[in-house]
This record gives sequence, C-alpha cells and structure tokens, in this order.
Amino acid sequence: MVEVSPSHRLFRRYLKEQRLPVTHQREAIAEVVFSSAEHLSVEEIERRLRSGRNRIGKATIYRTLDLLVRSRLVVEHDFGEGFKRYEHGLTQEPVHGHLICLECGRVIEFQSWEVQEVKARITQKHGFRPTRHKLEIYGLCQPCQEAGVELPDDGLSCPIETV
Ligand SMILES: [Zn+2]
Ligand SMILES: [Zn+2]
Repeated sequence: MVEVSPSHRLFRRYLKEQRLPVTHQREAIAEVVFSSAEHLSVEEIERRLRSGRNRIGKATIYRTLDLLVRSRLVVEHDFGEGFKRYEHGLTQEPVHGHLICLECGRVIEFQSWEVQEVKARITQKHGFRPTRHKLEIYGLCQPCQEAGVELPDDGLSCPIETV
C-alpha cells in the first residue's frame, strides 16, 4: 500500500461522507493538485496526469476539481485569464495574497500581517464577521518590466470634457 498524504486521506473521507466512490481517477487528480505548490490550470493538470500515464478526460477533471473545491481542500482562483486556476488549500500559508502579472501570467504569493490587521479593524468597525477574503494585485512582474513591457491604459485619456 502506497503511503498517502493527510490531504489525500481527508479527500477520501469527504468522498465517503458524500457517498461518492473513491476512484483511482479522482485520487490521481487530487494528488496532482496536492503535490504542487503552484496555481494550476485544468490544462496543466491534464498534462501532468498524462505524463504520469493517467488517461483522464477533461470532464472528469472538472467534476473532480468541483468536489475538491467544495470540500475546501482546494481553492479555485479566477485571475481574469479566461480560465480558472486551482491550488492546494492546506498549504503552509493558508492565508496569502497574490500578485498576478498580466503579461506572463506569473503568480507571486505574499503574506502580510498588516492585511490581517486591516481586515480585523474594518470588519470590527462594521460589526461584520469575516469568514474569508481575497487579495489580488494585478500588474507587471519585475522580469516583464525589465523586458520593457508596457500595459495599455484603457481608461479615458483625459477626464475633462472637450467638445
Ligand atoms: Zn510577467
Ligand atoms: Zn496561492
């Protein structure tokens, strides 16, 4: 018997609680996400499964990711690329923000106690009980800036009416 990770055991338990079969395919998909520190697209997950000699269709991957997200073992992100990305929800830094490069798609994670403080202050002020939050900062990463990439500004060139 191959040793399985704690996340893997939790996923098995979740499937059993939901009265869903623990299949080899579901386990293989979960393992790809659990064993990566990256923010994977479905394409990337499919590629990794194939290199591990697993032939699993996209529909099964989508359905399994849906289960993983509902179990909260995996977190789904939409970084505005037109597709979703998935990351292991029980990483060592469960609460982190993302810097997303609009040119190369690089995702940099960061942690900040100041953000936690601001969150506590604002929610307290409004008598709001927070469960989770998201912090995504979009722009250009350092290598892209150094390569001379400029992002177009799609806003008004001048906010003053001229006609
Ligand atoms: Zn970049
Ligand atoms: Zn992340």
